[in-house]
Formats: sequence, C-alpha cells, structure tokens
Amino acid sequence: MKLLILDRDGVINQDSDAYIKTLDEWIPIPSSITAIARLSQAGWTVAVATNQSGIARGYYDLATLESMHARLRQLVAEQGGEVGLIVHCPHGPDDGCECRKPKPGMLRQIAAHYATDLAGIWFVGDTSGDLQAALAVDCQPVLVKTGKGERTLAKPLPPGTLVFDDLAAVADQLLS
Ligand SMILES: [Mg+2]
Ligand SMILES: [Zn+2]
Repeated sequence: MKLLILDRDGVINQDSDAYIKTLDEWIPIPSSITAIARLSQAGWTVAVATNQSGIARGYYDLATLESMHARLRQLVAEQGGEVGLIVHCPHGPDDGCECRKPKPGMLRQIAAHYATDLAGIWFVGDTSGDLQAALAVDCQPVLVKTGKGERTLAKPLPPGTLVFDDLAAVADQLLS
C-alpha cells in the first residue's frame, strides 16, 4: 500500500510552544490540507502520529483533541480527500510510555492497523523526535521546515534524512 505518516503540529497545522489547547488554536496550514487531499486522491493513505502531552498535563481533554481531528478530516474532505488513522500519545515525558516520540510506538500502531510493514515508509515531521522515531522502525525520516523544522535543521540530522520546505513539497515529490 502507499502509506504516508505525518506528525501533526508544525506539519499539518501551525505549531505553538504554548500547546494547542482549543479548537480555535488549531490553525491549519492551508497548503498542507491541500497536500493531504491530493495524496489521498492519488491513492495514498495518509496517517497521523502526534504527541499530545497536553492531555497528561491537563491543558485540554480528549474531546477537544478529537474536535481538532474532526476539523482536520472535514477540511480534507472538502477538498475531496480523506485522512487515515490518527493516533496520539496522551502521556507526559515522565510516564515511560512506548508511544511518545522519539519512541516509535505510534508508528507501530499504524503499521499494525494497516497490516503493513514500516520499512521505507516516509514519516514526515518537524522535530528530532520525529526523525528518531522514524529511524527506530526503519522508516524514511523526512523533515519539513514548517513548525519547529528550521530549529531542527540547525542540529545534526540522522543520516539519510530528506528535507523539504513543507508538506506541499513532499506531496509534489511523491506525486511526481
Ligand atoms: Mg511537530
Ligand atoms: Zn504515550
């Protein structure tokens, strides 16, 4: 299958160092919505793996998070596309879970859901944690410069990391 996995904050929507706590604070990057719709229309399954420690920290609840994801699905659907499985890690950094990136648990969840292998699957993110999670399960690490991407670019990147301006450029590459 043609599977693409995305980080959420900083890739699909604007990131915030103050967390994205309400539906109003969830501000999509319009070209990323279009990119997901284009990929979907071309037969790609686009899944999402997102750290949401703000839940553990009590900044927002699961219902609020789900409202953001419903909005995302709606916006992509308006452009004729579909968002695949969205998995989130609700834990904090000290919870010792297996899902919080840089651990690859969410990528494994997605692979299990689609009964597919992760080797070579592109995982697109904007932080080192995303790239490390990709490497841990033999995915192709892909960095975009949106969100925290420019900051991440200033640090050493895992070997083989692909770098694009944004998700639209990733889609251009995959669809070319
Ligand atoms: Mg991010
Ligand atoms: Zn977790």
